[in-house]
Amino acid sequence: MSLSAMDIEQKLLARKAELTQRLHRIETDLENRRSADFSEQATERENDEVLDGIGQTGEIELQRINRALIKLQEGSYGICEVCGEPIEPARLEVIPDAVRCVKCAG
Ligand SMILES: [Zn+2]
Repeated sequence: MSLSAMDIEQKLLARKAELTQRLHRIETDLENRRSADFSEQATERENDEVLDGIGQTGEIELQRINRALIKLQEGSYGICEVCGEPIEPARLEVIPDAVRCVKCAG
């Protein structure tokens, strides 16, 4: 593997921090909007749905990153969950939280 486990862990942790921060901002934003003036709430609600969508995507990615971090500790990182073969290093470099090889993900 071209990336060391430590490099990968750092990459994952950096991404995790970024996501956590973004999710926190979205939550704060949603709370602020919900306490805004009643007259503005109709349009605010549409924006809320967009923000909720971004939040959900981030949440899912965060779960994948956490899973990858656990795998790193367990020593099962980089192994495809479907076929048990090593995941291509080039793929892990682009998607450090990938849990399937190219064949199985496709
Ligand atoms: Zn596979």
